[in-house]
Amino acid sequence: MLEELKKEVYEANVLLPKYGLVTFTWGNVSAIDPETRHFVIKPSGIDYDELTPEDMVVMDLEGNKVEGRYNPSSDTPTHLELYRAFPDMKGIVHTHSSWATSWAQAGRSIPCYGTTHADYIYGEVPCVRNLTKEEIEEAYEKNTGLLIVDYFKDKEYMAVPAVLCKNHGVFTWGKDAHEAVHNAVVCEEVAKMAARCEMINPEVKPAPQELQDKHYFRKHGANAYYGNLTK
Ligand code: 13P
Repeated sequence: MLEELKKEVYEANVLLPKYGLVTFTWGNVSAIDPETRHFVIKPSGIDYDELTPEDMVVMDLEGNKVEGRYNPSSDTPTHLELYRAFPDMKGIVHTHSSWATSWAQAGRSIPCYGTTHADYIYGEVPCVRNLTKEEIEEAYEKNTGLLIVDYFKDKEYMAVPAVLCKNHGVFTWGKDAHEAVHNAVVCEEVAKMAARCEMINPEVKPAPQELQDKHYFRKHGANAYYGNLTK
């Protein structure tokens, strides 16, 4: 079942170590099938070198395992809440990539200091609050998802395809698994640049809004003109 999507999700998962975004098994990628509304996700705690497309786990949006011999990623309930709330999110990535996670651990959103950031993310990468003791004990991963949903529910979530979870790590998303991985790479790079930028100039301010707008909207939306149609 969903063999193509399993292959796609497998390939996206193995890109995480390739791009240096995960150490050991600290990350996961999923993608949803728009027809069945089932999603495919990495199994929990299996070494990336040992993964195969057949190892991917198929879940429904009620949290039932539909197919797969392994347990799904421990972060599955977070992915599930995001898919339930946001129909345009069709691929999701979670990592503990070190620069983005450094901002998360510091409890700081990543300001937009330059056009690399503005090309992909409109405004800061937000850092959402810690879960309460009760939220952690009751349903940690599900409540992580609900917290992200609460933050983005009235916002253009596809224009800010990344979020930091305080003291934890980063989630990114996209129109498919590969775009979600792409955004995870972007988020890590901008996190690194922003940290260095503050180190070089502790007084640094975000890039001018008109410059952020120029870069974001030349790549996104009705008036985008960046790039070439190659297909
Ligand atoms: P899984 O192997 O269960 O996906 O866990 C990875 C991880 O990053 C936990 O936060």
